[in-house]
Amino acid sequence: MYLLTVIIGICLILILFLLSDKKHLKGLKEVFAKKIPTPITPILTAEQVCIIKSEIKHVEDKLNKEYTITSEQHRKEVNDANSICPKCKSTKVNDRIKRIQGEINGLSSGSFSGGLFGGSGFSSGSIHGEMDTNEVNVCNECNHEWKKVKLSNNIGISYSLENRIQVLVWYCRSIIEYNNCTFDPLDAAEKFSSLEEKKAAAQKSIAMCYGKKQSEVFNGVFIETIQEIANQVYIGDYHRWEMGRFKTNCTPEILEQIGYKHL
Ligand SMILES: [Zn+2]
Repeated sequence: MYLLTVIIGICLILILFLLSDKKHLKGLKEVFAKKIPTPITPILTAEQVCIIKSEIKHVEDKLNKEYTITSEQHRKEVNDANSICPKCKSTKVNDRIKRIQGEINGLSSGSFSGGLFGGSGFSSGSIHGEMDTNEVNVCNECNHEWKKVKLSNNIGISYSLENRIQVLVWYCRSIIEYNNCTFDPLDAAEKFSSLEEKKAAAQKSIAMCYGKKQSEVFNGVFIETIQEIANQVYIGDYHRWEMGRFKTNCTPEILEQIGYKHL
């Protein structure tokens, strides 16, 4: 009889738990399922969604434009560096492979003078080991030789939304550090003589920091747009850590502090 009462009691508690506490259940589900960061989803009207979408498009257009300008500049710089002799400024410049360092057929190794293989490719597959082609530019006027400058493949990375959200996180992080800045006159490692002086120095470095400059692409957009961009670039479990970092640093309060407004 006692046992039956206990069992009925447990069943009742369970039923009550299931009926009344759906939130709790959801929480439990999250613990058992892989914990995916909940995206920041404020309740929005259709009109607000429209504004956010057009703001995101605007930011993307700005980034594309910046990227086009920078990559053209870079291409010109590389081209100039390879076609103008740094010594005599002549434009009569040739390029050639100075030296091929590697192991051929496992027998010989070392350096081979330019022109030997003529850059025609090694289709025989008889080359083993690491190859290092050292391309140089040669000036036909003064015979000066200098290493050929290559185009960088990494320029595009800093013109992505993900990169700019990341720098915004750094910027917000520095604001939080500024807000939490303390001064201990008894700390021998303290470089400053007062909290005011320390804060002034921090403010100065924030004003000039890379994160501030790079996140200027978001100037004028709403806090909700920034949150939506974070939702889009930090999607899924793979970006859990980044999303967490965004949420702790780019809080609406901090974003407001650096000049962003709510929709
Ligand atoms: Zn020259």
